[in-house]
Amino acid sequence: MDYFRPAIEAMTGYTPGEWPAPGTNIIKLNSNENPYPPSPQVNAALQELNVDYLRRYPDPYAKEFCRAVSDVLQVPADWIIVGNGSDDLLNLLFRACAEGQDRKVVYPDPTYVLYKTLSAIQPAAVATVPYPESFQLPIEALIAAKGAITLIATPNSPSGHIVPLQDLRTLAQQVSGIVVIDEAYVDFAEGSALSLVQEFDNVIVLRTLSKGYGLAGLRLGFGIANPKLLAGLFKVKDSYNVDAIAITLGAAALRDQAYKNARANQIKTSRTKLSVDLKNLGFSVLESHGNFVLATPGTHSAEFLYRALKERGILIRYFKQPGLDDKLRISVGTEEENSTLIEALTSLIHG
Ligand code: PMP
Repeated sequence: MDYFRPAIEAMTGYTPGEWPAPGTNIIKLNSNENPYPPSPQVNAALQELNVDYLRRYPDPYAKEFCRAVSDVLQVPADWIIVGNGSDDLLNLLFRACAEGQDRKVVYPDPTYVLYKTLSAIQPAAVATVPYPESFQLPIEALIAAKGAITLIATPNSPSGHIVPLQDLRTLAQQVSGIVVIDEAYVDFAEGSALSLVQEFDNVIVLRTLSKGYGLAGLRLGFGIANPKLLAGLFKVKDSYNVDAIAITLGAAALRDQAYKNARANQIKTSRTKLSVDLKNLGFSVLESHGNFVLATPGTHSAEFLYRALKERGILIRYFKQPGLDDKLRISVGTEEENSTLIEALTSLIHG
């Protein structure tokens, strides 16, 4: 007997970015992490943490964190669901909503690869609609695909483009299933689609503390939606999906918007400089609203540069798949990391 369900036997697992142990002398620009530490308020909250508190299970609804989200984003606390990273919330959405041919998963492509992985695990049929070169949202085709879940990442990864609010509104109006607006990178963009959750009870907006707040290691994300939509997700959620430390530290991080915004602005400035430097080396670079850029080299192959940089201790992301295999996704690092990257590329390209 096969150990695994046919869907699992047949699928390829998600490949996370390479993970060098902390302290190794590697420049890690492959997972869109924040190059700066989290707010000093997070460290203060960590120092004050009483380990005796860990004896008990954490709050199943992470209310302390929900209050912080509610205060900062001006949404009612019962419109918030908290997850072990936004990946956890995606997982809940797929488990609760997607199944087989009748309850399809729909998204424009290229986008976050995990959507495909979660569909394969479920299993649920997937209908992808290719983004045109302009990255305009292919609204008609997405609606026609009739998804039980339609997912839009904005800013999108790996392209870095944003989807206009009006397009998202049209989509939410016209699809009968759930529209997931994945705003993992919203802290590096202008604007948000958060207002749509008030207009439509089939819209959920996902956020994370992994990017703007510099807390990828904490694993904390949240979703905002009408309580009617959240009720279905709460049925599927593990009771204690978020640990007590994450709840407390996450609340401290969220309440320090000034710090988060200052770091995000710094990263946006570096993003502009990195794009210019890459263009000067012959790359074509898409305008990005995230903490990364997608760049196509003009002279050497993307795979060659990815490997050559890796040999020099610089990790960036190379996706060996049609449509992306001539491109490189590079997370914006500190000014120093970006300069080292540009120097290495300069010597690889110009010899
Ligand atoms: N959505 C998108 C578009 C992402 O790129 C990522 C991070 N790789 C996530 C969601 C998940 O982030 P996390 O689970 O760390 O919150």
